[in-house]
Amino acid sequence: MAPSRKSQKSRYRYNPAMASAAVRDRMLAAGQRITRQRDAVANVLERATRPLGAREVCDAVAESDPDVGRATVFRTLHALVEAGIVQRVSLAGGQTGYLICKTDGHHHHLVCTHCGRTTDLPETAVAPFLGRVERSHGFVVDHTSFDVYGRCATCR
Ligand SMILES: [Zn+2]
Ligand SMILES: [Zn+2]
Ligand SMILES: [Zn+2]
Repeated sequence: MAPSRKSQKSRYRYNPAMASAAVRDRMLAAGQRITRQRDAVANVLERATRPLGAREVCDAVAESDPDVGRATVFRTLHALVEAGIVQRVSLAGGQTGYLICKTDGHHHHLVCTHCGRTTDLPETAVAPFLGRVERSHGFVVDHTSFDVYGRCATCR
């Protein structure tokens, strides 16, 4: 007898810690397999309202999916950064913050040092300034870590 749809489903533990469809599409486009670990890490970052430190990501993943260990979270974060899906910003105290942005691909950030919220800054916003710096200083700008710190419209 063929199992009913219901009994088939109940063999799997319900796991709500999934990345959004948009982020899953980005993973696939970057040649990444969608794994439970990547889902769990992406889900935590997508729900966050500010960049999270690696330890905060570990703690949040432990709550949503206790089977994913800390070392795995660190490895997964690194892989998602390498794939350009997770972005990094520097936080107060030199800590690295991790975030998943609405903007796909290369861009920069306005980082509020008060509430921690970030706003995506498109390349078109920084290119003219960086171009002027390069011309006036004969300097080749490596601007992969170019972010702007200050207070957001709510906190100023
Ligand atoms: Zn703020
Ligand atoms: Zn961003
Ligand atoms: Zn740029």
